[in-house]
Amino acid sequence: MLGYMMDTPLLTTDLLRHGLRNSPDQQIVSRLVEGGIHSYSFREAGARIAQLAHALKAMGIEEGDRVGVMAWNTYRQLELYYAVAGIGAVCHTINPRLGPENAAYVMNHAGDKVVFYDETFKPLAEGLAPHLPKVERYIAMSPGNEEVPADFAGKPVSVQDDLMKGLPEEYDWPSFDENTSCGMCYTSGTTGKPKGVVYTHRSQVLHALVTSLPSVVGFAPDEPVMAVVPMFHVNAWGLPFSALLGGTKLVLPGPGLDAPRLYDMIEETGTAYSLGVPTLWLNLLKHVEDNGFKFSTLKYVLSGGSALSERIIRGFERLGVRVRQGWGMTEMSPVGTTNFEEEGFFDLPEDERIKKQLQQGKPVPLVDMRIVSPTGEVLPHDGETDGHLQVRGPWVLSEYYLHDEPTLTADGWFDTGDVAVIHKDGRMQITDRAKDAIKSGGEWLSTIEIENAALSHPDVENAAVIGMPHPKWQERPLLIVQMDIHAKATPEDVLQFTRDRLPKISWPDDIKVVKNIPLGATGKVLKTELRKTFADYKLP
Ligand code: ADP
Repeated sequence: MLGYMMDTPLLTTDLLRHGLRNSPDQQIVSRLVEGGIHSYSFREAGARIAQLAHALKAMGIEEGDRVGVMAWNTYRQLELYYAVAGIGAVCHTINPRLGPENAAYVMNHAGDKVVFYDETFKPLAEGLAPHLPKVERYIAMSPGNEEVPADFAGKPVSVQDDLMKGLPEEYDWPSFDENTSCGMCYTSGTTGKPKGVVYTHRSQVLHALVTSLPSVVGFAPDEPVMAVVPMFHVNAWGLPFSALLGGTKLVLPGPGLDAPRLYDMIEETGTAYSLGVPTLWLNLLKHVEDNGFKFSTLKYVLSGGSALSERIIRGFERLGVRVRQGWGMTEMSPVGTTNFEEEGFFDLPEDERIKKQLQQGKPVPLVDMRIVSPTGEVLPHDGETDGHLQVRGPWVLSEYYLHDEPTLTADGWFDTGDVAVIHKDGRMQITDRAKDAIKSGGEWLSTIEIENAALSHPDVENAAVIGMPHPKWQERPLLIVQMDIHAKATPEDVLQFTRDRLPKISWPDDIKVVKNIPLGATGKVLKTELRKTFADYKLP
């Protein structure tokens, strides 16, 4: 028997309505691209979102049209999220760090009809324009009355606030199928062409509801949250949606991602929760340590995107800040696990607890995960057997956008490309990206484990491990490090330090120091580049 409940669609406009109705005076604070800080209330945001929706309709944006956005995290991008999705169109956030070739590829592949850009990305938009035949117009995300070029490659350029001026501050938001797309984002293309992931209103609303749980991220009205993670990559982990749902002050650091400006913004806005990738946390930590600063309001750092290091956990804890790890992917909207601290967690002996914190955590509600062997056999959750990590759930993609190959396994799971073990207590631990794992004498070694050991050395700024051919063992690990500018330790010291923390089989055979470890569009180490750099190197 079916139940007797209303079948109302889950739409992102409902999150907006909720924020406006219940917390109209709550604030959104942004560091502006043009300089300075901008604050306004949810109420004022709602008025501008309505105006923007009218402006989009006036420029001919219809249901299903893709609207490209190249911008930092500011209130303007947040307005686009809601206005574009609210009229049934698709907000295509573009990662400007993809490089021009990939950026043009994703914009053409998505079929963007118009492109919004902020001042920083004007040269990029202008340079790409001749290669974007489907784009009909460009819109500068800036206040009115500035000089903008009349056109980019023959397509008109307008100023966003000029288009919105005088338009009604209310919009009669339509209702439609909850499976309508609200946004899309491409993977960063470290292994081939970027692939398009198309989110739905339903997936984003459910993701926002679940990430609002205290065991996942948790949003409270009096605990401001800062989205350090970019809105151009996986919707800033859903924060633009969950903050309005939680009635939480949202802090958007714009282009100010360097440690001094991040620190100042955390202090000035009373930020309690902050979400982003480990490289940024390490920089922030060093800035605070080097200057003898303190955090007066920060309670939690939520770290994801790549593996967390012990150094970050211990460093922040000394400053009274807890660190919680999460794991996810563009294909998962992105949150799949968080390493939440169950009752008694902080009573564990410190080393045991930190070992658990370095794991990626337990699946969040509604997400299911399993590990399988290369032949598809489902493996036990015994904390020892590792396998290919597969997931399913209401915010996991069903297929890539306009993609020929099947996205899911025959029995409906998405293979993440990660290799993991699942511990008996339910915590999942990534040991590697499948393509990065090192096979030594028939055993798989975890590059993450070796990198984490090296990263615990205070003089190591960043570390990466790649497999090098070996005549006897097939492959052995080479440790590549970027040293801190004030480093006193020698490479040999770091190698010994790393080995001291690992089982012998995982000892790196050698260490190389590079000036900069190359990072990709989302701040992750580009091992492909390192493999090229060390292609001719031979292990001792
Ligand atoms: P891309 O576009 O490169 O796929 P994503 O942000 O979607 O970028 O990257 C997802 C991948 O990032 C995961 O499959 C995993 O390998 C890695 N990752 C994310 N979070 C973590 C984490 N907490 N620990 C280790 N690896 C992580």
